[in-house]
Amino acid sequence: MKKKSIQKPAPARKTRPARAAKAEAPATPLIAGPLHTRRLGSALIVHLGTRPDKHCTWNCIYCQWKNAPKSTHERRQPVPDKDEILAQLADLLAKPRKPVDAIVLGGSSEPTVHPQFAELVEGLLQLRKKLGGKWLLHCISNGSALDREKVRRACDSIDRMWVKVDCATNELFRKANLPAARPISLEKHLNQIEKLKSPLIQTTFWRNAKDSELQNWSPENLLGLLNIYERLKPACVHLTTLRPSSMFSKLRPIHYENLEAFAQRVSDLGIDVEVFP
Ligand code: SF4
Repeated sequence: MKKKSIQKPAPARKTRPARAAKAEAPATPLIAGPLHTRRLGSALIVHLGTRPDKHCTWNCIYCQWKNAPKSTHERRQPVPDKDEILAQLADLLAKPRKPVDAIVLGGSSEPTVHPQFAELVEGLLQLRKKLGGKWLLHCISNGSALDREKVRRACDSIDRMWVKVDCATNELFRKANLPAARPISLEKHLNQIEKLKSPLIQTTFWRNAKDSELQNWSPENLLGLLNIYERLKPACVHLTTLRPSSMFSKLRPIHYENLEAFAQRVSDLGIDVEVFP
């Protein structure tokens, strides 16, 4: 008689308790607001990058978008399409929860490197005309795509084109703003801003409690910035500082009185200036 082979039951597989899923960074909404902003009133902020990461060509040491990957210019997800942005804005503007003074291209990413930046700007200006909107279109940029003529032309059609200038020496610029994706010199950065018809400048100040070489609140840098403002002749300069935050272990904000004193020196050059502590 043939022996029946008795199949042994397969040993029960040990199941490991599932590891707790890694907490996902909260998604940044495509459009935030209307929010009250320090500088621009009630604003809708358009985040043009790869949410929840930022998508920026710089990596400033004081950047508030902490959840950005190290190499911030690498897109891990596709950037939002301009038609999607325009459709969402049209909806929000048709029945806003409160009056909107400004639409701001900026947020967590560098707007000018969005592949449809020029088309988006055009679409927004058309949308304003169609809706009879009174809001101003602002762009807050590090200016790193201003070497592209199409981008520059779009920037010139924006009501308020704010470009970042924090550092007056190339060394500090490279160390503090960390222009990683499209490494440029400070001189090239300034040359590109000069090509705009009516640039506005925003400068963020900080002190460094541990490394005095890595701060822009120093007599030399302040003097250098005054020279730069004189050269660029912006219609207005906004001076800001960091908000006190545990995010920055070594970086410190600048007191309002000190910012005001520096603003007076800017004003003495005949340039409009505002302080936002
Ligand atoms: S330019 Fe703005 S978004 Fe880019 S790293 Fe600097 S602070 Fe952050």
